[in-house]
Amino acid sequence: MDNSILIIGAGVAGINCALNAAKYGTHVYLVDDTPSIGGMMARLDKTFPTNDCSICIEAPQMYEVDNHPNIDILTNTEVRKVKKADGGFSVRLIKKARFIDEEKCTGCGACLEACPVTVPDELDGKIGGVRKLISIPFPQAVPNVMVIDPDCRYGRMRDKGACVGGCVVDCSQCRECPIALCVAACRKEGKDAVRLWQANKNINIAVRSIVIATGIADAKPPRGLYGYDLYDNVVTYTQFERLMNAGGPTGGQIIRPSDRKHAHRIAWIQCAGRGLEGGVPYCSKVCCMVATKQSIITKEHDPQVDTTVYYNDLKAYGKGFWAFYEKARENGVKYVRARPYDVFEDPETKNLTVRYEDLDSGELRYDEVEILVLSTGLVANSRNERLAKILKIQLDKLGFFKEKDPISAPLETEVEGIYVCGGATGPIDISESVVQATAASLKAVSPR
Ligand SMILES: Cc1cc2nc3c(=O)[nH]c(=O)nc-3n(C[C@H](O)[C@H](O)[C@H](O)COP(=O)(O)OP(=O)(O)OC[C@H]3O[C@@H](n4cnc5c(N)ncnc54)[C@H](O)[C@@H]3O)c2cc1C
Repeated sequence: MDNSILIIGAGVAGINCALNAAKYGTHVYLVDDTPSIGGMMARLDKTFPTNDCSICIEAPQMYEVDNHPNIDILTNTEVRKVKKADGGFSVRLIKKARFIDEEKCTGCGACLEACPVTVPDELDGKIGGVRKLISIPFPQAVPNVMVIDPDCRYGRMRDKGACVGGCVVDCSQCRECPIALCVAACRKEGKDAVRLWQANKNINIAVRSIVIATGIADAKPPRGLYGYDLYDNVVTYTQFERLMNAGGPTGGQIIRPSDRKHAHRIAWIQCAGRGLEGGVPYCSKVCCMVATKQSIITKEHDPQVDTTVYYNDLKAYGKGFWAFYEKARENGVKYVRARPYDVFEDPETKNLTVRYEDLDSGELRYDEVEILVLSTGLVANSRNERLAKILKIQLDKLGFFKEKDPISAPLETEVEGIYVCGGATGPIDISESVVQATAASLKAVSPR
């Protein structure tokens, strides 16, 4: 126990915290409740302010934690109980079944080809992303093994054509499945890694400290905001990020969801929803630079694309951010100080007209675009509430983890031995997350 710590959340903050703590000889349990480590950064295209490829920076770190002798990665795993014990904590984890033997699966993909059911992907569904009922979260996932949608086993996908959908026996009762096509395909490869009967597993550990690195979530726009959910070509900035990404559902083609044609006029509405019911009431710090990055990259894809950012107040607070904004302007990105009112769709062309007040001239203007991107902001992870109860610590009124004192004891919580870093503290960019993760790792491994 003396030499172990638990890190909850394996995005860029959790990963960097783990690598640092492990360098000091500490044993680390790095837990994530999704099937892969990586968090949001693994899904981004490039990162401001350098526009380096996001996964090219994060993947080597992901492989390093995977191969580090001092780090145990536990994916698909939730924290269920935490008790103070012997100056540290005793922790009950539950590793949710992925219905795959992680030791045997090599991620070869034979089962993917055999699976007959395709469903919209949770992240990329709006822009055409799909996955099979057996899938790998993304190509560089760690661990690089499959996960099976539990709905497939319980017959809930019967009407969609799931191969085990017709079976009347509960999957947990069988040790052999004569029906599932993924089982047969895997066996044909000589691996036998599919375990439809797998159950959840309890794991008990003892640790000296805990670091919370559960990150952020992108805010969902309220239905109807600037036509979101009503008009196909209104997307969020996260959906647009996936559209630009060569590893995303369109292979990096910036095409419209409505007709899958290349868009030539694209606009961003900053602070979308701010001050409105269901919108984010505060500044999320990163959105101005995200829109700047996305407009620069759009121009790199095709310099002829007309790009406009409607903003009210520009935040370029970090090192190199102002130069990044100037680069966008030099590349022809238009920044318009504006108050957008509403958006109308042409039912034939599916183009969108943005009606806004130009805040410099005071005039009412109308611009027609082919894709409209809503920069909706960052919100607290919805799983924080449950975790805070388990850890017996408080959240602030926005749902982020409360620090003991943001000035004299940042990254500490009111429970000695529990620390917080990255997006779990509030809206944040990647480099700040890494700085906080490094500091939190030192607090976690230091004697108390
Ligand atoms: C569209 C978009 C573009 C962006 N572009 C940039 C950019 O170019 N440059 C930049 O600097 N920043 C950018 N950001 C911000 C960047 O994504 C964040 O700064 C970064 O992801 C924060 O890292 P994190 O590890 O704290 O959180 P996350 O990346 O959110 O990772 C948190 C991890 O914790 C896991 N988790 C959550 N709850 C639990 C739980 N209860 N139990 C176990 N595991 C849990 C999650 O599954 C996840 O893997 C962008 C954000 C968005 C939305």
